[in-house]
Amino acid sequence: MKQPHRQRGRHASATDRERLATLLGNFPIRRDLLIEALHRINDAEGCLPEPLLLALAERMGLTPAQVFEVASFYHHFHVTTEPDGRPVLRICDSIVCQQHGSDGLLATLRRTLGDELRIEATPCVGRCAGAPVAVFGQKPIERATPERVQQAVADGDTDCPLPQDAQDYAAYRAAGGYRQLAELTTDAARDALIAAIDAAGLRGLGGAGFPAARKWRLVRAQPGPRLLVVNIDEGEPGTFKDRHLLETAPHRCIEGALLAARAIDAEAVYFYLRDEYAGCRALLARELAALQADPPCPLPAIHLRRGAGAYVCGEESALIESIEGKRGLPRLRPPYVAERGLFGRPTLEHNLETLYWVARIADEGPAFFRDAGRHGRRGLRHYSLSGRVKKPGVYLAPAGITPRELIDEFGGGMADGHRLKAFFPGGAAGGVLPASLADAPLDFDTLQPHGAFIGSAAVMVLSQQDSVKAAVLNALRFFAAESCGQCTPCRSGTAQAVRLLEAPRPDRALLDELAQVMADGSICGLGQAAPNPWLCLRRHFPEEVDG
Ligand code: SF4
Repeated sequence: MKQPHRQRGRHASATDRERLATLLGNFPIRRDLLIEALHRINDAEGCLPEPLLLALAERMGLTPAQVFEVASFYHHFHVTTEPDGRPVLRICDSIVCQQHGSDGLLATLRRTLGDELRIEATPCVGRCAGAPVAVFGQKPIERATPERVQQAVADGDTDCPLPQDAQDYAAYRAAGGYRQLAELTTDAARDALIAAIDAAGLRGLGGAGFPAARKWRLVRAQPGPRLLVVNIDEGEPGTFKDRHLLETAPHRCIEGALLAARAIDAEAVYFYLRDEYAGCRALLARELAALQADPPCPLPAIHLRRGAGAYVCGEESALIESIEGKRGLPRLRPPYVAERGLFGRPTLEHNLETLYWVARIADEGPAFFRDAGRHGRRGLRHYSLSGRVKKPGVYLAPAGITPRELIDEFGGGMADGHRLKAFFPGGAAGGVLPASLADAPLDFDTLQPHGAFIGSAAVMVLSQQDSVKAAVLNALRFFAAESCGQCTPCRSGTAQAVRLLEAPRPDRALLDELAQVMADGSICGLGQAAPNPWLCLRRHFPEEVDG
């Protein structure tokens, strides 16, 4: 006998559907906007109540699993059955913040404010010059102490202030900004721009260092329609240069993106900004609106997308997955994103700083960039300098500058009472080197013989007061927490590496073997580079391995 139809699984109630409708208003219902929709709920409720996720799945025509898997992937979404209304307080526990006492800060705040706040340790929030850093809601608190955090909580202000030093649209236009874009109208002009980028020797400054002009030609050779993605998901511990560029020169970066888009004839530009940069998000939204309201020339479609707390989304294909509204799982290649990237289309993806330089090279010609550099290297870079220096910050300096020169000439020297012992030249992934190598030029390809690389040029400085092993363990724990879990060598290897190195007398041979498996068998750069800190510790600081 035929059974009456019965709906299976969990379903949203009418009340939850109504509540969701109120929260979303006329927000477009599209699969690629799933993460944006989750942000709307998370911002309003302070969490993601499960009944609302069921209602969202229904409304978007997705299964609950499709919504839950995305919601639970990103650190900044708090999926719960029991919303308790507590605001979130995050304490950065990455290398430089830990160096500046974040462990003690976290313990104290959990003891004193743990009942009224949801307190979480969080990876690098991109404010290492102000370590230790706490974030109350979206409001960053630099040089955080228990008293300063308690005062911020008492004030109840959870908003991130708008950056005040940015050159706005009117000022940028008045200074001749967007002239290059308006004049880029012919194939000959596009070819000339690509030739100038080539002549400058500009390479991608997100970490990989791929020659920019070659990337443009690869994408341009693909059949249209093409897309451009701007990667502003700088999550590498110690890196905060892109935030600095956005806070000071947003339109240089935007014009660089639009020049690149026009050079490859892209029909749309997607800016993907990490969620930690809430002030930059408001600024970028405001400035993009000003540009679109009074454009200097016809513009492609421009979209601003918000990350949700996932380091792996800095990887170009994971970031594309995230823009498509999915978990940030890196893709297997080939096909490369230049062939099949965002929404299956040929995609040019660039780090923000690279595009800043595109705008300047278009404006000033390639010579100033090509002719800069030290110790036989060419170009300019923004270095994020943090740790035991007098003046941590972002510094524009020549490619090839040595760590010692960077510290002395730009960072004001070592902090009082500190002697240089070690430095991470390129964030957590780039490995850690001893003071004896502080005269090696910082650039692509110069540090590999020592087992390190410059990556995003995030130089974190350690002194005789720091344990290199503790910093390496911090880096390994970070990778274990941020692994997307897609492939076993990385998912299991990062966790095993932490467990092995935590032992008083670590099994060096086993750690080496593990490092080889991870480097050989991981899909993306996270798993491939994760063993670097261990390999550097073993090679350059063997006396610190035990204990
Ligand atoms: Fe994910 Fe790690 Fe594999 Fe990359 S290497 S795809 S982060 S599991």
